[in-house]
Amino acid sequence: MIQSIHDYILLKKHQKKYSEEKIKKLQFISIKKMIDYAKLNSPFYAEKYKDLSFNDLTDIKKFPIINKSIMMENFSTLNTCGIDKEDVLAYAVEKELNKDYLGYYQGLYVIGLSSGTSGNKGIYITPKKMTKRLPAVFLARSGLSLLDLPMRILFCLRVFSQGFNDINAPMMKLSYLSTMTPPISIIHTLNEKKINILMAPPSLIRFLVPLKNEIKIKLKKIVTYAEVLTLEDKHLFEETFKTKVIEIYQASEGQMASACSKGKLHINEDLVYVELYDENHQEITKPHLVGHQMIVTNLINFAQPLIRYEMNDMIVLDEPCSCGSHFRTIERIIGRRDDLLYFYNLQHEKKYVFPDLFARWIITTSDLIREFQVRQDEIGHIIITIDAPLDFEVLLLEERVHKELEELHLSAKIAIEIKPIQLPKDKNKYKRFITENIDKKEVF
Ligand SMILES: [Zn+2]
Repeated sequence: MIQSIHDYILLKKHQKKYSEEKIKKLQFISIKKMIDYAKLNSPFYAEKYKDLSFNDLTDIKKFPIINKSIMMENFSTLNTCGIDKEDVLAYAVEKELNKDYLGYYQGLYVIGLSSGTSGNKGIYITPKKMTKRLPAVFLARSGLSLLDLPMRILFCLRVFSQGFNDINAPMMKLSYLSTMTPPISIIHTLNEKKINILMAPPSLIRFLVPLKNEIKIKLKKIVTYAEVLTLEDKHLFEETFKTKVIEIYQASEGQMASACSKGKLHINEDLVYVELYDENHQEITKPHLVGHQMIVTNLINFAQPLIRYEMNDMIVLDEPCSCGSHFRTIERIIGRRDDLLYFYNLQHEKKYVFPDLFARWIITTSDLIREFQVRQDEIGHIIITIDAPLDFEVLLLEERVHKELEELHLSAKIAIEIKPIQLPKDKNKYKRFITENIDKKEVF
């Protein structure tokens, strides 16, 4: 408990009071500690970093970049707990088959499993003592405040894990439901348990919108995570549920960003060190530029050091926030780099369209479109599946997409089908964009 209060106060202090200079100093110290620890305890990093030294924050650029496949290929020598990849993978898969997500591996670690587009599984280790400290992080960085106490939170999770079970305090009651629970049952739980804070992915909340009249309780806040919250969804949820909607941006690799009291997403500069680069590999330090490459160093997880780990996400920074925090702000989470859509222009040059923009065209065409999926199997060819009434006028959507593309001097063949869309049965995130057979290296 004392540890939690200490963590909470410290996290709040970093976010609210630290100057840019102080943040940089804290980041330097944290990265140095992480690198030194990794060199000593991880054979992988010991070898990779043997001729490198870190004496200044800018030195980080001399350190090699890793990614998920490099991390997984070297899993057993990269982690600092001597955990063997095959053993832990067998453990995680068995847990998954039995739908048993509780418990600690070797009594000491929470094991998380994620799968990417290429189908390769990612394994993430969180030490038990760190999961015990998650409630403080959660409270300090979830956009919730002490004013929201007492909290009766309903967490809709794709997969439940011990990490979440550890969040339970006197003023904070948590209930869990799988995201596979039928929407009406979710609403029954909201009513029965008098939930005042709903945490769920946006794709799930969209399914609750048509059932809004069944909700008998008053929500204080909705917190979304796991998927990008579009501005349209945010407005729709605020309007429908008459409550504030905030977002947290987290990944298996770390707690990337969370909303402040103004509802603005700030990078958690004291938990992750984020480097952003443009298309020409120049570092981005100003707002409004698209970060095509996002490199993350987790500053708190020593069990599995992720140092200069390349994410697949693209984000855009924003101006400083009026809340006064010097943590960088995020204007837009564009989505995964894998989700870019490709088209030809009039000169037959390949160009891309950002997935968040394409999503906006679809969502804003009609309220009748409950969910959608976009598939691309060749450049300039798009198949859009929409969950909408069968008599929905698809021509509306077709014309809209053509019109928007024309404004960008792009053309495409568009096919549209109406079909009920189910959220995925497995634990993967719902994917709104699926692109196949397109060589993105060539296009970039
Ligand atoms: Zn702010």
